[in-house]
Amino acid sequence: MSERELEPEIGGFFRSNLLAVQKAIRQQDFRKFAALESNAERVAFVLSYPEAHQLSLDVERPMIKDSSGAIRLKETGNKLFGCGEFAKALETYSNAVLLASLTVIISIDRERRCKCLELSVILANRSATLYHLELHEHALEDIEEASRLGYPKNLFYKLEERRARCLLALKRHDEAVEAFRRALRTLDDARIPLERKQKFEMDIRMMLAVIDKGKRLNETVPKNLPRVNGKQSLSSQRPEENRGKFIPEKQRNPRYPACSNAVEIKNSGGDVGRHAVATRKITPGEVLIVERPHCAFLLAENKLTHCNLCFTRIFVPIPAACHTCSCVAYCSRRCRDADAQVHLRECKLLPILWHSKASVTCFLALRAITQKSFEEIMKLKDQFVDSGSALNISAKNPYRGDDYMTFYNLVTHEDKRLPEDIFHRAYMAAWLFRLLRTGEYLPESVKTADTADSRLSDEELFIAELLLHNLQLLQFNSHEISELVRPKGEKTLAKAKSIFIAGGVYPTVAMLNHSCNPGVIRYFIGTTIVVRAVRTIRAGEEISENYGPIFTTTPENERKRKLRVQYWFDCNCEACLGHWPLLEELDPTILRFKCETGLSCGNVLLVKSDTNEFMIGCAKCGKSTNILKGLKALQDTDALFKIASTNLQEGQNELALRPYLEILKLLDETLALPIRDYHLCQQGVRLCALALGNTARI
Ligand SMILES: [Zn+2]
Ligand SMILES: [Zn+2]
Ligand SMILES: [Zn+2]
Ligand SMILES: [Zn+2]
Repeated sequence: MSERELEPEIGGFFRSNLLAVQKAIRQQDFRKFAALESNAERVAFVLSYPEAHQLSLDVERPMIKDSSGAIRLKETGNKLFGCGEFAKALETYSNAVLLASLTVIISIDRERRCKCLELSVILANRSATLYHLELHEHALEDIEEASRLGYPKNLFYKLEERRARCLLALKRHDEAVEAFRRALRTLDDARIPLERKQKFEMDIRMMLAVIDKGKRLNETVPKNLPRVNGKQSLSSQRPEENRGKFIPEKQRNPRYPACSNAVEIKNSGGDVGRHAVATRKITPGEVLIVERPHCAFLLAENKLTHCNLCFTRIFVPIPAACHTCSCVAYCSRRCRDADAQVHLRECKLLPILWHSKASVTCFLALRAITQKSFEEIMKLKDQFVDSGSALNISAKNPYRGDDYMTFYNLVTHEDKRLPEDIFHRAYMAAWLFRLLRTGEYLPESVKTADTADSRLSDEELFIAELLLHNLQLLQFNSHEISELVRPKGEKTLAKAKSIFIAGGVYPTVAMLNHSCNPGVIRYFIGTTIVVRAVRTIRAGEEISENYGPIFTTTPENERKRKLRVQYWFDCNCEACLGHWPLLEELDPTILRFKCETGLSCGNVLLVKSDTNEFMIGCAKCGKSTNILKGLKALQDTDALFKIASTNLQEGQNELALRPYLEILKLLDETLALPIRDYHLCQQGVRLCALALGNTARI
């Protein structure tokens, strides 16, 4: 399992400045800091030292648009296209698209000079490449965008003709006809010799006649043939139910809509706090929680390979809606438009954030604010007065992960923190605050000067308060968002690797406690988390996830140490309490049967696998247990294991998942964990499940 938490360690960019600030603070003043009671005061304290204003908020080479660079790339792209090197041309045009500015330029096309947007021309050229690569959906997106951005009128006929041919390839005949007709109409603007015009017109009329004939023929054929729906194919190739993306409305927990009704959230207070419990018996594979993040942020290295909004891998990058940066990309115009507002608020801040190499926790602390407008954030001030209502969860007032108050109420352990810990975070919050102030997020009327002697305005203090609070809660409540990377051409998952592409906060999943023998696994579809059971969970039993260390691979001491350092608790899970050995140390010749008396006894009967006896006495309750049913189940699982392995080897992951889950169900009935085969099987389940989520073929 991947690490769940992403700690804000102080990296090289900050270290010497942090030391300078620390040095400037006298001992008695640090005591004053330790006595401060609000996060706003703590950040203001840091900012009252001139040293805290020395760290740069600028980068030398911000990733901004570069027209001449874009034009150079476009020309290289044209050459590659001319040689039929379409894949390389696509990559080159895509780089040009990201660099191209949105200002009007005088472009020299083959015949004449004309005024147009450089980006529209590059997009049109990329659409031609995409058409040749038979990537019609993507080509259509570029054509649409090129025409929106004012592609030269005299060349429009070519663009419309290409649009028509793409639509035709997608069997969207009616739209294709319209586009061909538009191509004919725009031919008047073309500055080409009459002869070429006539030839072009004849070709199109021919195409229109062919389509018309095809249409008439089609009408005589029964209509139950499968239809290709152009709108669907860009997003997902698989039926979403299979991927566990949704829990049907009727099966949801009305108070916690991200959960199925098999899950209830309880609050025991104290160290246990809020946690999830099974309302009924849960079987392996069941989808328990599906949740969108409150906020999420891509890792810097993925900023141009993954969509800035939905985190899917980008094949044909779409640039941001802003006029300045070239530092983020989108998978589609839909994602770009949906993210436009948030990006504008963040655009200027991103290059320096990336440059600082601050951890993704810092990015998330900032985005929790920038994803809402300044006015929306200021409205929260009133809600803090009456924060009790956020905890009164009912069917009428359900738990909403997108609500800032839900996020705000996640655990911070502020009362347990040492002054040094809070100081480090206050220092980071102070820098993030200064950064936010350089952009356009805060209105000028509330901004104060970036100096040690200026007193922060009330609005600034509120933002500073939230930033430091966010940093504290993120320590315990963030998740890594993963993607399964599979080598190109490999059928099996043997060489697949789960990598960390982003960080996110899932306010419902965040309430699950940890176990070194977790009851669930998680995977991601875009930014959405899917949590599924990976063993049988009894009614009333706690549903736990894994924060990083798992008993099969990490020794008990090491697990406990990690959990203590990062999450501040002593693990009391069954694997820790029972001192379970690592997977490789589990003796496969010893079988572990549950005593038939059940939970009220709870004893485990150890039996050699080559035993001839089938009635085993329990030393605890004295009752005898018939192990024949268990032995039979073990035999059945052998056959299932073979089916699962064969399917897995053949790349049939969804077909492998079923027998794996069946094995877990069968073994859960009679045997007690840990069982070597059982946990191997769980690993198979995890791999198959990951393949249902974000996947990349590299
Ligand atoms: Zn996207
Ligand atoms: Zn931008
Ligand atoms: Zn444990
Ligand atoms: Zn017993």
